[in-house]
Amino acid sequence: MNIQIAPNDISHVIEADKANVWHHLMQHAAFETVDPRIIVEGKGLRVWDATGREMIDAVSGGVWTVNVGYGRARIADAVRDQLVKMNFFAAAAGSIPAALFAERLIEKMPGMSRVYYSNSGSEANEKAYKIIRQIAHKRYGGKKHKILYRERDYHGTTIGALASCGQPERAAQYGPFPPGFVSVPHCLEYRSQWGDVPDYGVRAAREIERVILEEGPDTVGGIVLEPITAGGGVIVPPEGYWETVQEICTKYDVLLHIDEVVCGLGRTGQWFGYQNFGIKPDLVTMAKGVASGYAAISCTVTTERVFDMFKDDPSDPLGYFRDISTFGGCTAGPAAALENMAIIEDEDLLENTLVRGEQLGNGLEALKSRHAIVGDVRGMGLFWGVELVADRETREPLPEKTVAAVVAAAGARGVIIGMTNRSLPGYNNTLCLSPALIATAAEIDTIVEAIDGALTEVGATL
Ligand code: PMP
Repeated sequence: MNIQIAPNDISHVIEADKANVWHHLMQHAAFETVDPRIIVEGKGLRVWDATGREMIDAVSGGVWTVNVGYGRARIADAVRDQLVKMNFFAAAAGSIPAALFAERLIEKMPGMSRVYYSNSGSEANEKAYKIIRQIAHKRYGGKKHKILYRERDYHGTTIGALASCGQPERAAQYGPFPPGFVSVPHCLEYRSQWGDVPDYGVRAAREIERVILEEGPDTVGGIVLEPITAGGGVIVPPEGYWETVQEICTKYDVLLHIDEVVCGLGRTGQWFGYQNFGIKPDLVTMAKGVASGYAAISCTVTTERVFDMFKDDPSDPLGYFRDISTFGGCTAGPAAALENMAIIEDEDLLENTLVRGEQLGNGLEALKSRHAIVGDVRGMGLFWGVELVADRETREPLPEKTVAAVVAAAGARGVIIGMTNRSLPGYNNTLCLSPALIATAAEIDTIVEAIDGALTEVGATL
């Protein structure tokens, strides 16, 4: 790969970065000893940094995003054509790509009906919360306004999203938060809160009912759940969980909001994570994989039933959804999303995700017999987590710095892997794998071999 930056230009870029960029999720003291990593080019699963070093990216842009891989001229061309024709108009008006992408998206989501556009996962979730809150006001005098969220889940970085954050350290120091958000227990059987219980999935879901009854069913309007918890540990809810959640939501008239920011589109081998579990949601939010990071776009999708609750009512002049997102009117997002979806279809990437996902899962599972520090392997499709422990018997988590050493050792072998949220004790000991949905058999082998080597190297130091 030919990087078009002269050596002295690279040092200028690094100086400019160090002087003026505030990096996300980083303690900047790190840059006193190492330069920030500048990624300059990508193709398929591979990226090149400013030093020309080639790496396989096993986490789709670091955060489960670049589902169709890097360097897709087809998406860039579609976005360019759209931008020179019509780049933006406030979304009270429509646009050609917004209408066509909504139509295509709804085709993939039987039972769903309406698409509301914004720019990030956090924002899409805020819209969903506002819809739930406004329904509470329109129908229940404001009383049925509480929104439940689950321990270990994450829904974004804004103050409202952090009020519903199941990872308390993420929210620390940013309060006070708005009231009306209530947590329910996580459903990670490997770290069961109730010991070795039969039907753990049903047991964990029944906790939601307990919380609804404690709070009062007439006060709970919605619940937000990740179909598979991502940054909180790559948690696939166990059997029985989702059926029971659905039953509870119906029984207590609680709107079910599924946060598909990581699982949509295609990550689990279905268009959406919830489609693996037969769930019928009322609201679905999505962002990262909708346009694979080629443009900023997020969607809050609702059923017609939810949409109908906002229909014209002369007795309630404020009763329409009084929300706007300026850049929800950018056409680059839906133009990119249309091509992104077409690529997934044309290249049969859902099928590839299932086949390569099985290969990746089997490869990771096999590491258990070779490395005592592998405690649990979880996931589906091309979305996997490997929980590392200091002791398999007690399941004591491997310390964060040791997990980070495994990530670094895989990096030294040319493969970028991730780990669950750093500095979140109890949540930061799981390696994360989410390669692009185009991964080949050889690339999956390379990824597993790098992890194997990294575990051997770090394991030998313990
Ligand atoms: N929901 C989930 C499940 C996420 O993983 C994230 C981001 N990691 C978000 C919401 C927030 O998305 P964004 O960063 O685009 O606001």
